[in-house]
Amino acid sequence: MSYSNPTGSTPGTDSQAAPSHETPSIDLAQRRDELAARFAELQCDLGGLAYEMAIRNHVRVEVLVQRAAILQDVDAELSEVERILHLEETGTAGSCASCGAPHSSGAVYCWQCARPLLEHVSGDSISA
Ligand SMILES: [Zn+2]
Repeated sequence: MSYSNPTGSTPGTDSQAAPSHETPSIDLAQRRDELAARFAELQCDLGGLAYEMAIRNHVRVEVLVQRAAILQDVDAELSEVERILHLEETGTAGSCASCGAPHSSGAVYCWQCARPLLEHVSGDSISA
């Protein structure tokens, strides 16, 4: 793998450098694409493998199950990433400092544990 960027510069994103404890959604979107591509590739492999076995009338179930388990892992992670991305798309601004439940940008109290969210927001709000 060639490594031509020593400082890992990503042009265009310098103005909104996020704190390290937050997960930028751009990474999640990228990860979703990677997982989706990997899932498609593994699924294609599995299909091809099953076909090769079938036409030779020699299906090795344990090999197929093993491959399917890898596919299942990728699928599970993909579902999780898509779930988080969906939360962000529906206006989630952050998570409760007390219980970790996601809340929207206009929320004053946590919907789950009723903790006031305002002091958390004003504490480390976006530096403008
Ligand atoms: Zn909470």
